[in-house]
Amino acid sequence: MSTSLLYHAWGLKGYRYVRSHYCGGKLIFTVQPNQRSLTCPVCHCRDILLHGSIYRMWREVSIGSKPVFIQMGIPRIECRECSTIRQVKVSFADQRRTYTRGFERYALELSRHMTIIDVARHLNVGWDLIKEIQKRFLHKCFSRPKLKNLRQIAIDEISIAKGQKYLTVVLDLDTGCVVFVGDGNGAEALQPFWRRLRRSRARIEAVAMDMSKAYISAVTEHLPAATIVFDHFHVIKLFNDKLQEFRRQLFNQVQSEMEKKLIKGTRWLLLKNPENLVEERDEPQRLQKALQINQPLATVYYMKEDLRQLWSQKTRKRSARFLADWMARARVSGICMLEKFADTLQTHRDGILAYYDYPISTGHLEGTNNKIKTMKRHAYGFRDKEFFKLKIMAIHLTKYALVG
Ligand SMILES: [Zn+2]
Repeated sequence: MSTSLLYHAWGLKGYRYVRSHYCGGKLIFTVQPNQRSLTCPVCHCRDILLHGSIYRMWREVSIGSKPVFIQMGIPRIECRECSTIRQVKVSFADQRRTYTRGFERYALELSRHMTIIDVARHLNVGWDLIKEIQKRFLHKCFSRPKLKNLRQIAIDEISIAKGQKYLTVVLDLDTGCVVFVGDGNGAEALQPFWRRLRRSRARIEAVAMDMSKAYISAVTEHLPAATIVFDHFHVIKLFNDKLQEFRRQLFNQVQSEMEKKLIKGTRWLLLKNPENLVEERDEPQRLQKALQINQPLATVYYMKEDLRQLWSQKTRKRSARFLADWMARARVSGICMLEKFADTLQTHRDGILAYYDYPISTGHLEGTNNKIKTMKRHAYGFRDKEFFKLKIMAIHLTKYALVG
């Protein structure tokens, strides 16, 4: 063992190897700072007196499976120039940390491939230490994303726990980066985002979101020049919710057991896109049967299938005509649910057709949502909300998205 190995193996520069011993399964290297290089930590002058030292240990990268520790007496120095007494700075570890920077880098590297608990086990440390390392790293990289270049964004809420627990996420649609995670849903959650956005002087052109009143009024207030684009997945989802309600009502109205049974079996089939119905399970036939015996259900179902075509028209003009036609048919259908939905579409018409000016959606956030679900399974990060939010900020970059 030598000072040179200390440098080449762990990058410890400016320290001299003193001795090594093996104790309680740990390899402990004692080192010493080069006396000649000692200066006052405040004014860097060399006119100093030594006032003993304080012994400390740092976790270092292991050798094989053996945990390695660096032990050193940190000299206390009295400076004759500025007459202060201070500990000298340790170059290989951050202040107050119990591990070296090399160890920190290694733990982060492992975190890209393993869950927190795996890394902790592998390195023989508590999982909270690995979490702390990850959290500091994520905070450094992601807590203050640059907003200046934002042009097109998507806003959506994500459910983080059973009950009414939500986060609001803002996505940069050009880069795919999450640029903000707010507590809760609705207008309140976005307040800090507007503040930061104002400071950044970004010029937002378009915002993709659902048709919730809270978002509409928040965006209209804070980004009056931006075009609102109602996300088409959300429009269809809203229709599907209404369709389910409608199906339940029908179920309660019909008398015959046979009809009840048929309607009951269609619950999921009605929500599926027809191209996703599974032939082997007779899904198309079962759906067909239920629709045949129940005309209103069939009408609503086919109106949904029609509505989906709204977003695949060639031009905005054609789409506008298509929408007008759809609403007209809904209004003469005699089905209250369709009439109401036509009203909803009428109210949000501009934002729906704006898709043809900015073909954007919140769909990317859907992918983020799935990753979050995976993350939730690793409950460790989830208990610390701040940490969880930082992980969401990092989620789009597989390069940084630390596992679990
Ligand atoms: Zn000094």
